[in-house]
Amino acid sequence: MSKFLFKRTKILATIGPSVFTEGKITDLIMAGVNGCRLNFSHGNNTERDQHIKWIRDAAAKKGRSVAILQDLQGPKIRLGEIKNNHMDVKKGDELILDSAVEQHDGSHILPVQYNLAERMKVGEPLYMFDGKIRTTVKEIVSKTAIKVVAENDGFIMSKKGLNLPDTDFGGDILTEKDMADIEFGASRDFDYVALSFVQCADDVEKLRQILLSHGSTAQIIAKIETKKAIETDESLEAIVKATDGIMIARGDMAVEAGAEVVPVVQRKLIALCRKYGKMCIVATQMMSSMVESPEPSRAEVSDVANAVIQGVDAVMLSDETANGKYPIETVKAMKKVILYTQNNTKMVSLNDEIKSDESYDAISKATTDLAEKIDADVIICQTSTGATAAAIAAQRPNLPIITVTSSPRVAGQLALTYANSAFVRPYSENYGLELAQELKENGYLQKRENRDNLTAVIVSGIKSTAGGTNTIRVRNV
Ligand code: ATP
Ligand code: MG
Ligand code: MG
Repeated sequence: MSKFLFKRTKILATIGPSVFTEGKITDLIMAGVNGCRLNFSHGNNTERDQHIKWIRDAAAKKGRSVAILQDLQGPKIRLGEIKNNHMDVKKGDELILDSAVEQHDGSHILPVQYNLAERMKVGEPLYMFDGKIRTTVKEIVSKTAIKVVAENDGFIMSKKGLNLPDTDFGGDILTEKDMADIEFGASRDFDYVALSFVQCADDVEKLRQILLSHGSTAQIIAKIETKKAIETDESLEAIVKATDGIMIARGDMAVEAGAEVVPVVQRKLIALCRKYGKMCIVATQMMSSMVESPEPSRAEVSDVANAVIQGVDAVMLSDETANGKYPIETVKAMKKVILYTQNNTKMVSLNDEIKSDESYDAISKATTDLAEKIDADVIICQTSTGATAAAIAAQRPNLPIITVTSSPRVAGQLALTYANSAFVRPYSENYGLELAQELKENGYLQKRENRDNLTAVIVSGIKSTAGGTNTIRVRNV
């Protein structure tokens, strides 16, 4: 049964107060988490060092590759601290948002981290708290303050984000805070850096230059969430080509462009990423009822299953693991949906509307076709750069890929890639086969009940030849 027990779609979990112990993070990993997201909108560097240590220690103790993703805040405008972290808002209430205010005294004068008076005009919409409170600008009251009128009832909390879908920002999406966070991240060796509110491919290029200047080889995840990024198919495609991976950040996208736009963009982006062999993450509200409840809703189960069927690399949890009552249960529930879906239905083939015309994937396609045709148990991939493993994953094989590499960096960056389990071993010509034998002996790989052996398709390159990957072998283990 072995190949059916491996979940091929990965889980990325946001680390927050609900899991702030090494024990809880270990539980997350053992429940199925492959990567941890640190949201740089919250916390400070001392806390982050603690979180990194917990994640690295837990992963090492359990012998798992777990990626760490640094999520940069970007030009997200947020409220400051709200007194007692809660304030009710009623329809018709007038609120002042003032960047000069430091402390909230409980009144309707709210601190905000950005000078809105400089940018906003009367009549423009301003949404708070993921669009939960909708307001319109009524007046620019001073050089630092604007007055807005609430259009519905609800409440706000500290640091909640604001969206200004019709306001013109023009310019740089990396803030001073982001620059400092990038520098910190480079010294901590994160596997991925996620860039919020990407508007165009240039934003990605700019970040890549900055990362290189700090000596960072982290991969870039472009978060797709602005109206501008999704305006045309050309701009989406250009961003996908420029980046290493994308995150479909459905929360802000829904607020900025309308919720009905999101499923269509999700479908397009997953297809584009599969076409270009880029990593793809679906994020936001996948299991959000589990913040409060031990069971997911039917709609959430369906949402996760559909992302799997569309062929995403990873699905993400935010509040569910950061702030929720049932972080571990949520991961378990998600894993259950992923396993059932992958084992009982076919993934959609690459959209007819987007056909791959790339030739670089000839070896990976041959490997996948061979492995599926002979109903192998596992693809073993020997790789030094990770490129072969990523190319095979892009074919979305219906069996696990065990990757062996001598580079911990490469292993970390494959942790969120479809179907990949990466192991670090010192290089030798046959380290793929040796690893398979080791994993069979320790029970990680198990043969199916009706079979005498495990069938492995082993892909490797021979170091002295140019061009990398060049051998495909079938072996019984
Ligand atoms: P974003 O728009 O970037 O998703 P968010 O505020 O919704 O921002 P999430 O990353 O989705 O943040 O996390 C959900 C909640 O978990 C946050 O609103 C915050 O209350 C809490 N949280 C997350 N990370 C931390 C942290 N490092 N320290 C304290 N609280 C955190
Ligand atoms: Mg965000
Ligand atoms: Mg969120």
